[in-house]
Amino acid sequence: MARHAHEFSCTNCGWWNYPMLSDHMDGNYVIQCGNCGHEHYRTIEKGKVTDKRHSTEKAVTDLIHVMRSACQKEKRQLGVVAQLRNRLFAESMGGGV
Ligand SMILES: [Zn+2]
Repeated sequence: MARHAHEFSCTNCGWWNYPMLSDHMDGNYVIQCGNCGHEHYRTIEKGKVTDKRHSTEKAVTDLIHVMRSACQKEKRQLGVVAQLRNRLFAESMGGGV
């Protein structure tokens, strides 16, 4: 079971969150900002966070609490290895870079 870091910026406080997601994750998730606790409703498909928002009326598969240590004000600079891994992951998902 592979895990990978997801990156998103909180629309409420603007901090960057880096939760670890598993490739088997599928469904409607609530991702909670590690800084301000703002809840982001996102649909995750095969461990990849989509741009789709799901409504609160739908059943929530799971709640993801982003740890404070996985949250920071400035955008994280990816290391060379991490960049390569992300590129390979994007290619394996059928998407370009
Ligand atoms: Zn926030």
